[in-house]
Amino acid sequence: MENMKTDVVVVACGLSGLAASLAAAEAGKSVIALEKSNVTGGAANMGMSPLGIGTRQQKEANFLMTPAEAWRKHMNFIHWNGDARLVKKHYEKSASTIEWLEGMGVEFDHLITAYAVGENERAYATAYPTAHCVRPEGGGVPGPRCAGAMIKKMTEHANELGVNIMFETTGEKVIMEDGKAVGVIAKKGSETFEIRADAVIICTGGFGDNPELIKERFGFEWGKDLFSFRIPGMKGDGIRMAWEAGAGKSHMMMELMYQCPDNMTVWTFDGAFRQPGLWVNMRGERFMNEDLAPNSTFTGNAILQQPKNVGISIMDTKMIKKYAKRGPDLLDHVHGYDMFDNWDQAVADAEAAGYKYFYKADTLEELAEKIGLPVDKFMETVEEYNDMCDAGWDDLFEKNRAYLYPMEKGPFYALEFYAGAYGTLGGIKVNHMLEVETDDDQVIPGLYSAGTDCCAIYGDCYPFTFAGNTMAFCLNSGRMAGENAAEYSDDLE
Ligand SMILES: Cc1cc2nc3c(=O)[nH]c(=O)nc-3n(C[C@H](O)[C@H](O)[C@H](O)COP(=O)(O)OP(=O)(O)OC[C@H]3O[C@@H](n4cnc5c(N)ncnc54)[C@H](O)[C@@H]3O)c2cc1C
Repeated sequence: MENMKTDVVVVACGLSGLAASLAAAEAGKSVIALEKSNVTGGAANMGMSPLGIGTRQQKEANFLMTPAEAWRKHMNFIHWNGDARLVKKHYEKSASTIEWLEGMGVEFDHLITAYAVGENERAYATAYPTAHCVRPEGGGVPGPRCAGAMIKKMTEHANELGVNIMFETTGEKVIMEDGKAVGVIAKKGSETFEIRADAVIICTGGFGDNPELIKERFGFEWGKDLFSFRIPGMKGDGIRMAWEAGAGKSHMMMELMYQCPDNMTVWTFDGAFRQPGLWVNMRGERFMNEDLAPNSTFTGNAILQQPKNVGISIMDTKMIKKYAKRGPDLLDHVHGYDMFDNWDQAVADAEAAGYKYFYKADTLEELAEKIGLPVDKFMETVEEYNDMCDAGWDDLFEKNRAYLYPMEKGPFYALEFYAGAYGTLGGIKVNHMLEVETDDDQVIPGLYSAGTDCCAIYGDCYPFTFAGNTMAFCLNSGRMAGENAAEYSDDLE
């Protein structure tokens, strides 16, 4: 066993762990950050944009929302199922966090709203330009994974400040003495470290890579009715460590959206089928107004109301041709406008790879058979739907009439969509100081948490109205935990 000593030990060096380490080091503290993998940044390396409210970029774009306004809207969205003081601090901190990152050399390319579509096609009338898209290293068009450039700059700054990042080192246990957290036991291969510290901050990124715990907590069977991102190593270590140290439990949820299985390998389809054609469930019935498709949260929830938690998006050849010529009707914030440009190639690739969630057939009956839908019921649905298209009015769900495309010209195409998720949220109970509390609301001195391990501010649904929220919460809560832990350490001296 090797003994080490530091002011603050941070368990994990993902997004919130980096922010916490930087904040504590900027306050003059010695910091050891334990990182299980061999890179910093965790899931944030996959992402694009953190939120900010009241930033320079927004003022320049004449978007003048204040943190208090965002806070009120957020609290109303979650029906006040979250800590109002923590949410307020999160938004108040967010503009200074964007500036703080710029100070490290991070560049932001542009502001994105959740849905880059016309007002009528926004499922929320209030999707705000809050996400600050990170400019990729060396320039170029920002896209999935561009936030890696932000992680790189944060890591360089942590190195400059002397943060000791111990890679391939797993935090295992919080050392508790007299009811206080006084360090961490960690492992690197067969080596064990006892790291004594004034304060411990837990930031291990939730349990998105722990299907057993996901099943136990939320009932999903990963690979059957859930196809969420599984960033390796997100097993819920920090949540377990905190609970073992006496922490209370906070509301847990999956950060749900929807996607086709293994979506990164069929990225064109994942975006292309989010169009307002005909969507049915496994009973062969429509279940939502299809113009809802760009809203990942609402559509994901709608899919979860259906048998086997699956929704099927169907398009006919007329739609495909129209989109190839004029571009798609609906566009979310991650898929490109060009997804119909190479449609035949995308179809050929999916067929060659034997991608089993995609279907193509010359007739609608054949399509229904291939998918396993009750053919008669499905044909009844199509007839009813096509009649509504002729009449120019969707009697059932009042879909935008601009999108009443009848299903008439083969070949017909279909894709199965399931619930997806970015990861899990919540688990460790914290107060607005990011101090960990017991179930009896008692602060555990010296123990802090930040990021997704303790993020219980979204109620039941991710608030896409304020895009970039999770990264921002990780950054802001990380900074606050680091600052508060540093003050606690000062008080001990
Ligand atoms: C594909 C994708 C795209 C996304 N895009 C966006 C976006 O554009 N905007 C947005 O706001 N959010 C986005 N998110 C969400 C956001 O990136 C994450 O919520 C955020 O990175 C979580 O930060 P965190 O610090 O809680 O965990 P992470 O950043 O995931 O870090 C957790 C770290 O803990 C380490 N770890 C785990 N256990 C231990 C242990 N026992 N000891 C030591 N280390 C340990 C892991 O190796 C990892 O480095 C996206 C997520 C995904 C998956």
